Amino acid sequence: MQDAVIFHKCYAAGPFTWASFPTIFSSTYPLMLSYGNLRRRFSFIESLAKHGYVNFAFPNNAWLSSFRQYNKGFHYFYEDIAFQSISKSKLISLISHVEPLKVLLYNFSSFTIKKPYMQHKDLISATLKVLNKLKHHEKAFFWIHFSDLHAPYISNNYVLESLFEGYSELGILPEKLARLLAIRLKKIHNIIAHQIAILIRTLIEEVSTISSRYLIIITADHGEELYDHKAFGHDGKRVNNVNIRHMYNELLHVPLIVIGSEISHYEDYKTLVHHVDIAPTFIAVSNIESKMPCLGKALTEIIECRGAERSYVISEAKAIRIANSFLEYGETYALIKDDFKYIWHPVLGDELYDLHKDPHEKHNLSSERPDLLYIFKESLMRYKKMINRVELIYKIRRARELLH
Ligand SMILES: [Zn+2]
Repeated sequence: MQDAVIFHKCYAAGPFTWASFPTIFSSTYPLMLSYGNLRRRFSFIESLAKHGYVNFAFPNNAWLSSFRQYNKGFHYFYEDIAFQSISKSKLISLISHVEPLKVLLYNFSSFTIKKPYMQHKDLISATLKVLNKLKHHEKAFFWIHFSDLHAPYISNNYVLESLFEGYSELGILPEKLARLLAIRLKKIHNIIAHQIAILIRTLIEEVSTISSRYLIIITADHGEELYDHKAFGHDGKRVNNVNIRHMYNELLHVPLIVIGSEISHYEDYKTLVHHVDIAPTFIAVSNIESKMPCLGKALTEIIECRGAERSYVISEAKAIRIANSFLEYGETYALIKDDFKYIWHPVLGDELYDLHKDPHEKHNLSSERPDLLYIFKESLMRYKKMINRVELIYKIRRARELLH
C-alpha cells in the first residue's frame, strides 16, 4: 500500500452534488458566479488540457452532465450511463424472493426503475480498461465518481432499499419506523463503503504499477444523512413540499486522502481543509503555468509544512428547494472555526455548536454564547464582502478574455 496523507478535518463546499462539484473543479465557492454548474467558472481540467494532459471522466451522475459544463477540458466524458434503466423483468428476477414486493410490482405493469449510476464493480472494470489503453500517454488525468453511497442505493443484494427514489420523502415516516430504517441503511452504507474501499485499493495498485509519478485525491462531494437530524438523504427535511437544506456534519464533514509517488504518510488532525484546495493541488503537482484564479491552497504545500494555519472554512448552498423541482431559493452558510461551528439558515435561524463536546450537533449554543455568535456573524459578513470583490475581479477577467 502506498503512503497517504489523511486530512481529518475536510469540509465539503456544500451539502449536495451540484453545490460541491463546481468548487472541486474551479476553486471558487458554490454561490458565486453560476450556481450549480461550471458555466462561468474556470476549471483546472482546462489548464491541464492546455498543457498536454489527456483528461478522462466517469462523472457517473445525471447532475454532472455536459449540459452543466462539467465536461470542460475533458477529452473523454462518459455520461450516457446516467440514463440507463432496469427493465421490469430484470427487477422481478432480482426481487423474486421478496413476496410482498412481487405483488406490488405485478400491479404496476409498466413499472421500470431508472438506474441513476453505474455500480462500483462495473465502474472500476471500465476504468481499469481505459487506464490500460492510456498508459502510453505521458500525462493523463482521471476523474472517477462512485455513486453507490449516494441515495438511492442500487444493489442486487438490497432490493428493498433500491426501490426508494430518494430519501427526503422518508422524512414523513413515524419516528420509530424511521429509526429502524436508519439502522438498516447505516449497515448497508458501511458494507458498500467497504466494497468500494477494496476496489479503490485495486485502482491505486494499478496506477502505481503503470506510472512512476502520480497523485491521487480521494474525497466525497458530500455525506448522507441517515436520520441524524430527522431527515434522510442530502436534501434536508421536507416540510409542506419544501426541502429545508441541512448543513450538519454528516453532510459536510468528508474524507480527504492524498496518495502519491512523492507522498510520505502522516495524518493531519488539525488543519481545516476544503474542496477549494483540490484544483490548486492538481495545478501545483502538474508543474503547469495556470492563470486560473484559485481561492484555495495546494494540499501539497500544506503537506510540506506539516499543516497550515487557516482561521475558518465555509460551506454554502441554496437554503430551500421546492420539492421535485429545480427551484431553489435563499442562502445558507456553515462556518467552521477551531472546534466551533456556526450555521445560518433563513428558515432555521442561527445555530452554534461546540464540535468537540457535541460532535453530533444536538445542542444549539446560539443563545448561550452571544459573544461567539457575534464573532461568527462578523466573519460571515467579511467573507461575503471578500466574495463580492473576488467575483467582480473574476467577471472582469472573463469579460476581457471574451473580448480579446
Ligand atoms: Zn452527490
